[in-house]
Amino acid sequence: MKNHSYWRLPGGVIVDFQRHHTDGITARTFSFLGLPIGLCVTALSWTREAYYGVRAQRPPGAWKRTVTAVLHGTGRVMSSYCPDPPKIWGGLALALPRFNLVLGWQTHAWLQKADAHALQPCEACAAAGLRGIVRET
Ligand SMILES: [Zn+2]
Repeated sequence: MKNHSYWRLPGGVIVDFQRHHTDGITARTFSFLGLPIGLCVTALSWTREAYYGVRAQRPPGAWKRTVTAVLHGTGRVMSSYCPDPPKIWGGLALALPRFNLVLGWQTHAWLQKADAHALQPCEACAAAGLRGIVRET
């Protein structure tokens, strides 16, 4: 599979696929464009070495860290475009050892607010260096 491809589906829906691989971590992202909401599915996978560490140098207690990572990485995903307004529910995540799956969504109203806010950032955003802005492109 190529690192970047897209497919046109019936009804004007476009599926955009991107694959990135760095340091033993592979990210695969499917973005669905042309739907009533912004929809994005991301799968992250780790090589054994990238997730647990190099075999000869693995610190003890790796299973505890794995359980913690799975528990913390599973559940609702909150998103925001600004540090000031409260975060909203924008996705669901499932974490397994060496594998994460995230389904994210954004309404058009939310994306419009984010666009408007990016044009006129508030003091909180300026202070955060606009790091709070999360956008699908
Ligand atoms: Zn702001």
